[in-house]
Amino acid sequence: MDLSVRWLAFAGIVLVSCFSPLSSQAELSPLAPEPDWGALDAFQETMTREEFVHWINALFSPDGSFWKFTVINGNEVTLFGDKEHTRLLYRLRLAPDLDSQIPLRATTVSGWKLSKAEATSAKPLRGLVICLDPGHIGGPWAKMEGRFFQIGSDPPVLEAELNMRAARHAAKLLESAGATVVWTKRLFEPVTALRPERLREEALASLYPAGGATSVPASFSAELERRVVREEQVLFYRNAEIRARAELVAKLNPDLTLCIHFNADKWSSNPTRAELIPQSRLVVFVHGNYSEEELTYDDQKWDLLWKLLSRISIPEAEAGESIAKQMEATWTFPPESYANWSAARRVGPNPYVFARNLLANRIYRGPVVFVEGPYMNARDSYERIIAGDYEGTKIIGGQAYRSIFAEYGEILARGVTAWVAGPTSTVVNH
Ligand SMILES: [Zn+2]
Repeated sequence: MDLSVRWLAFAGIVLVSCFSPLSSQAELSPLAPEPDWGALDAFQETMTREEFVHWINALFSPDGSFWKFTVINGNEVTLFGDKEHTRLLYRLRLAPDLDSQIPLRATTVSGWKLSKAEATSAKPLRGLVICLDPGHIGGPWAKMEGRFFQIGSDPPVLEAELNMRAARHAAKLLESAGATVVWTKRLFEPVTALRPERLREEALASLYPAGGATSVPASFSAELERRVVREEQVLFYRNAEIRARAELVAKLNPDLTLCIHFNADKWSSNPTRAELIPQSRLVVFVHGNYSEEELTYDDQKWDLLWKLLSRISIPEAEAGESIAKQMEATWTFPPESYANWSAARRVGPNPYVFARNLLANRIYRGPVVFVEGPYMNARDSYERIIAGDYEGTKIIGGQAYRSIFAEYGEILARGVTAWVAGPTSTVVNH
């Protein structure tokens, strides 16, 4: 390398460091790593302006917040860290038209289309890798997570256990249809090696975001100490745990991940049967619908662009709608309405499918369908949930019911099978 080249290289480093988000105030979500903007270069000129604008307006930012951080000039999108456009983050070149659009490299998208080629009629899911993500940690952590309740002397309800039972049924059926099933977790233990007490610095940073360490009070009242400890716990089970699972998903590289949950409606901390909610509602989440506040974080802007440009939302919506159809056919509960809640927004043709920006469906690589089963605290499902898992049928409230967990597993497996079979397939009756 001659001197002038070396000088240019040195100047380049200086330039990069002057304008990189690191040197100004990059806004990052709690525990989020610095985004790798260069990784988005694989998507340059791989999408037309028309398609890009469609995805932003229809799915990722229907309230228009994304546009506050960007300038579109011809076929170039300039993304800024702030709404004042002082902090440049990234320049994305769009394709002028479909003919000049550069095809995506296979490594940047899910392999689901390739996998479909291996399927046979006996093994329709052969070649497909499905990751099961039973929600929450459970076990001794369930109370901290707020995923535990008990009414009188009834069996306690731990959501993590319910999710795991449904996942086990789904795994059996998916495997017998030829799929390879992988898991984010099999035990009621954290996947993350972090523990709440090791997240004190991060807890203080999220409680005192404006001035950083300087604004943290010198001494802590008992009340303040409780708040900090609670923040450590929330960062542990809601954030660090999901980030650890995301690392696993990235290594497992599945064609589809199913986040499996049971839902609940708000109620008191000492619940009674009289307080049970009259009726369950059902929902399936796909990723999208970022709020303006979420988009102030640079890592979330990166996640949005990655998910949008990799077109993972296409198989994600197809699989989500397919599972939603099966859910509706089996359980018949009405869909959520979320009329007064802007975090979830109805998208696509199916009334059960909503877009929501959840940490799991944002940072797990590949398509993610986040399924919420019936309410644990609703009259129409509580008795079936505390009846546990069983073979055959049981009489509950004068009616014969199969295990609600077996039904959940079948819904997931049928939904995946119908998705793989293609858009012309109809609901599988049972
Ligand atoms: Zn849950």
